[in-house]
Amino acid sequence: MKRIAVIGGGAAGMMAAARAIANGCDVTLYERNDMLGRKLAITGKGRCNVTNNCDRDEFFKNIPTNPRFLYSSYSNFSAQNTMEFFENLGVPLKTERGNRVFPISDRAFDIVDALANLVKKNVVHARVSGIEAENGEIVGVKVGGNTIPYDAVIVCTGGVSYQKTGSDGDGIRFARSLGLETVPCRPSLVPIESPDRHCPDMQGLSLKNVAIKAEDENGKTVYQDFGEMMFTHFGVTGPMILSLSSMIPDLGEKKYTLYIDMKPALDEKELDNRLLSDFGKNLNRDFINSLSALLPSRMIPVFVKMSGISPDRKVNSITKEERRSLVTLLKRFPVRLSGFRPINEAIITKGGVSVKEINPKTLESKKIKGLYFAGEVIDVDAYTGGFNLQIAFCTAVTAADSASW
Ligand SMILES: Cc1cc2nc3c(=O)[nH]c(=O)nc-3n(C[C@H](O)[C@H](O)[C@H](O)COP(=O)(O)OP(=O)(O)OC[C@H]3O[C@@H](n4cnc5c(N)ncnc54)[C@H](O)[C@@H]3O)c2cc1C
Repeated sequence: MKRIAVIGGGAAGMMAAARAIANGCDVTLYERNDMLGRKLAITGKGRCNVTNNCDRDEFFKNIPTNPRFLYSSYSNFSAQNTMEFFENLGVPLKTERGNRVFPISDRAFDIVDALANLVKKNVVHARVSGIEAENGEIVGVKVGGNTIPYDAVIVCTGGVSYQKTGSDGDGIRFARSLGLETVPCRPSLVPIESPDRHCPDMQGLSLKNVAIKAEDENGKTVYQDFGEMMFTHFGVTGPMILSLSSMIPDLGEKKYTLYIDMKPALDEKELDNRLLSDFGKNLNRDFINSLSALLPSRMIPVFVKMSGISPDRKVNSITKEERRSLVTLLKRFPVRLSGFRPINEAIITKGGVSVKEINPKTLESKKIKGLYFAGEVIDVDAYTGGFNLQIAFCTAVTAADSASW
């Protein structure tokens, strides 16, 4: 019987261990925390967006980093396989907007418990301190000063964000110490900082159904989207901003500006007519009191300040040119972007063990026989929507199956 060590009891580690157990192997799952799946338990704001009920093409469109590396793993265990897997374990699922899949109970713990029940007899709560290999073959794992021998080791230690959950980059360090190439870690799916005073002024304001466009210094559009975002004391966050963060890895070295279209359903002409009509109803009012039908109240003082029009100007004195510049401001409300929030606040880590080091069909190291990787420790990442957990599950199944036979 093959002896397998799985390092890390998160989404990938529990799935890998469960699969290898089902394949009849002698499995030990090492988890440094006293509970399994600590990060999994906080996913999807405690609801766990467990996968995305989309087709194959759509899945790969949502993987900005190294999608091809995942072709085999995804064929082995698709989003539909993930859904069947949890439903068969007695966790009914539902599909929400954007094909996001959640447990009907809205409890991430139902997903954690379903996986944990499959592996709990095989868990050792200890931190692995290293991996030993000799002559290009795995020897075992180091725990508490001893080396415990195994035929295969599957590294599922995650990335380096939300380190309190236990993922602080051990697996990446192990890979490096064994001579494997790693890609520097950067935050992804992370809120973005802005030097603009108007962000803290509108802290807590959430915008729905707006369009955003991010442009580089040359005015080239690098990302556009439609949906939700929020202002914070440091800058901006929300679903669209998190996705934007994975499209501009060089933020800080390069400068980007975010433009918010407050009225995406109207073109400039229609918006100008709308302004004319709103102003027509408020001719003798102060400018600042004429915008409540157009903008959320928290935004009005900021908008007025940025327009350069005095708040107590009477609406009837606003010129056509001034109205035109208001239209531009409504269609292109600017927020300068200066940097990412720290990696510890990132939903995922970009970077990790280089895909060049790993056989994509088996997830075995090309240099060390019997060493496998699965989940976020590998240099692959996706947008929000359940895609990152799907990566964890499909790589775990592939690594476990390859390690088992
Ligand atoms: C706030 C938040 C919300 C998220 N929401 C979603 C979502 O809804 N949908 C989605 O698809 N993705 C989501 N993600 C991303 C997703 O959680 C991760 O991509 C996924 O958990 C990665 O799984 P993993 O098993 O590779 O790593 P992890 O889940 O990070 O697990 C790694 C495990 O390894 C253990 N470990 C590390 N080093 C050692 C060691 N030396 N010895 C023993 N154990 C060790 C850690 O304690 C940890 O339990 C979210 C992430 C965050 C931070």
